[in-house]
Amino acid sequence: MAEVRLENVAKAFGSLTVIPDLSLHVPDKSFTVLVGPSGCGKSTLLRLIAGLERPTRGTVRIGGEDVTTKEPSKRGISMVFQSYALYPHMSVARNIDFGLRITGVSKEEREARVAEAARILALEDHLDRKPSELSGGQRQRVAIGRSIVRNPKVFLFDEPLSNLDAALRTQMRVELAELHHSIDSTMIYVTHDQVEAMTLADQIVVMNKGRVEQIGSPMDLYDRPASVFVAGFIGSPK
Ligand code: ADP
Ligand code: MG
Repeated sequence: MAEVRLENVAKAFGSLTVIPDLSLHVPDKSFTVLVGPSGCGKSTLLRLIAGLERPTRGTVRIGGEDVTTKEPSKRGISMVFQSYALYPHMSVARNIDFGLRITGVSKEEREARVAEAARILALEDHLDRKPSELSGGQRQRVAIGRSIVRNPKVFLFDEPLSNLDAALRTQMRVELAELHHSIDSTMIYVTHDQVEAMTLADQIVVMNKGRVEQIGSPMDLYDRPASVFVAGFIGSPK
């Protein structure tokens, strides 16, 4: 079970309160999408779940367990960023394997996981190549592959496609939906892109100024936006 719960979480950086008091339930195996204006606290929220930031107040639970003070590597999560730094001198296979090398997983098991990730991401024919020989979409898939091999319970994505051109974004959107289907884990996904939100999400969380403005299925939000703000974000005619 890998539901995520935030209970009355607050986060301040010095005198700047970014998240005043936020509670959120992300169901196990859901594809939950966070949207909201730049600076509203989306990345901060992901970083709190990942353990890259500690809340000023409140509790973070993953799979029912209080992980508020647990270090990131012990939380069973994996994060994919917008800017994915691949190692240029390493092959695709080694790039995917890299994060596993320090985990104590056996060589055989590592090779099996890399092969499985390559299959899921259609990178089988590119494993011996260097990142510079890949397209942007293939590179982003390598970055996702690094997460997959760690078998996380929860994937966190922070605008992973925003550096790609429109055609690639569309293709990767389809692939992300298939990925969610095939590996059956919980995904929390931040995006600026309304189409991504509407097509990928089981539930959309609309954030504004560190608060949840509305939460619901894409159809809920489209049909019954709680405010003009939400309507504007979802693109419904309110
Ligand atoms: P979003 O991802 O929605 O664009 P962020 O979570 O990155 O927003 O940022 C929310 C607010 O928190 C912004 O005002 C940002 O400047 C501030 N912030 C984020 N991280 C830090 C930090 N480490 N120190 C100080 N302020 C920060
Ligand atoms: Mg951000």
